Amino acid sequence: MGETPTYCSRCGARLAPEARFCVECGAEVVAAPAAVTPPYVPAPDVVARPPGRFPWGVCAVIVGVVVVVLMVTAVVVVGWFVFRHPPTSVTPERLRQATGESEPSATVSAEEAIARVKARPEVSAFLQMGPNPGATPRVELAREDGGSYVVHAYTELTQAPQGSPATLDFGWYRVSKTTGEVTQVPGP
Ligand SMILES: [Zn+2]
Repeated sequence: MGETPTYCSRCGARLAPEARFCVECGAEVVAAPAAVTPPYVPAPDVVARPPGRFPWGVCAVIVGVVVVVLMVTAVVVVGWFVFRHPPTSVTPERLRQATGESEPSATVSAEEAIARVKARPEVSAFLQMGPNPGATPRVELAREDGGSYVVHAYTELTQAPQGSPATLDFGWYRVSKTTGEVTQVPGP
């Protein structure tokens, strides 16, 4: 807003303060430009961001990226745990290790147990008899019982008459899975 000039620009008469028209000639009083005060120019940032216009588009993109990153991280973490600890990995051996239960591991194989039984003097002599017609000596693993193998030495009768037993027991032996010690037992 400019200042009211002191004198009329048309007739030169003195003007009253805040006068809109000259009382002498009736000319309209034209406000002099306010040379002292520069026109107000709003700051660029105020013009660029009018009130009420929040950048929702940029905000939504950022939120979406964060959500995707979190989902990928969750999938990787879950997959890592499943891979490292599959449900089928709970074996009796691992269970014993986890619970601290001490069970000696099998160091003697079934083949070695049978060989140990065959190496006994009476079994070796038994095996050297055959095979004979209709009768073959055999030493085989019958079953496993806890920490030992049960080995059966017998004669297989291939020409036994109908109704007769097809095998003849020679002896039963238990072989320790840990020490390999052979013990003759009365039966299976
Ligand atoms: Zn005038």
